[in-house]
Amino acid sequence: MKQYNFLNLRNGNDPFIDSLKQAACRVIESGRYIGGPEVDTFEQKLAATCRVNHAIGVSNGLDALTLILRALITLRRLKPGDQIIIPANTYIASVLAATHSGLTPLLVDVDPVTMNIDPQAVARAITPSVRAIMPVHLYGRAAWSHELLDIIRSHRLLVIEDNAQAIGAHAPCPGLNDTRITGSLGHAAAISFYPTKNIGALGDAGAVTTNDPILAKTIRTLANYGAETRYHNTLQGFNSRLDPIQAAMLSVKLAHLDTLNADRFARALAYENTIDNPIVTKPPIGANPLHCVWHQYVIRINNGKRDQFRRLLLEKGVHTDIHYPVPPHMQPCYAGHIDHGPLPVTTLLADQILSLPIGQGTTVADAAAIARIINTINP
Ligand SMILES: *Cc1c(COP(=O)(O)O)cnc(C)c1O
Repeated sequence: MKQYNFLNLRNGNDPFIDSLKQAACRVIESGRYIGGPEVDTFEQKLAATCRVNHAIGVSNGLDALTLILRALITLRRLKPGDQIIIPANTYIASVLAATHSGLTPLLVDVDPVTMNIDPQAVARAITPSVRAIMPVHLYGRAAWSHELLDIIRSHRLLVIEDNAQAIGAHAPCPGLNDTRITGSLGHAAAISFYPTKNIGALGDAGAVTTNDPILAKTIRTLANYGAETRYHNTLQGFNSRLDPIQAAMLSVKLAHLDTLNADRFARALAYENTIDNPIVTKPPIGANPLHCVWHQYVIRINNGKRDQFRRLLLEKGVHTDIHYPVPPHMQPCYAGHIDHGPLPVTTLLADQILSLPIGQGTTVADAAAIARIINTINP
């Protein structure tokens, strides 16, 4: 029986393998293993991609988020104890960045259709201590709307985008006819290049994007031991730099961002057009295909039998995943001591969601075949 793997990272790198080997050799031969031209070049390419003035390579996505928040505290634009609104349906890294920085996360519920932050829940959650918000473009979908922007403007909130899953997505922009790209919407944004992300390194890597030169400089300093110049430590910093070998890998793959995201959209479209099962709710494909870069294709099983559904799919060779089975506020490290409003949608989603294969290695024909199998399943 044909097996439909959830994700095969080796296959995903197949189209780039010669370029990746050449780039790796270039770094090995260069003798430059921290910083240097590979990192500078990649940062410039990334800034251009995200249409911002500054991109700072760091060690991973969690560090990118944490360094933004720490820098905002260093610059006294935030202070320890300030509340930051974060959607409850997210990967735990979003919340860890806040608590690691001494901020107080305030988790709010998500919209049942987009599964992203619900602007009405944000409006209800605002208190005088709320100084910042972290929209998470979860599953690759830009979490941005007129309503959200109105709240941000009227409360003068700092906006830190968790753009780990959505590089290349476009957000509708109120007041402009145009769209703007994620990573350029707020004061700063964090990207992850974890190997499973839309642009994956061959190890851990991440970056910050921002238009704010002072914030950029502070993040760069904090990430390099707090030193602006060598052995002159103005801040109590960290070691969180992007390795040149990863920068070289990422430069190869970033050049193909639009194609990689278009391939994901084609697979999502195959699911959209072929899945037809009354117990399955599909994610909205949307009028503008650029609004989502389909990091995950997440369906909902609405008869309360998601786990049985998943098992039957596996028996037919379809491997799936769940993003995420336990939301951060229910994890042992946070349960009972994290602030949140009512979270009925997040709690329901955790029991209903199922991620289908959509990464490199899954073809459009595979997606259509998986969809036809889905149509036969009724636990
Ligand atoms: C992957 C991810 C992160 C963290 O990125 P790492 O590179 O794994 O540290 C943060 N937020 C979200 C939503 C993610 O998916």
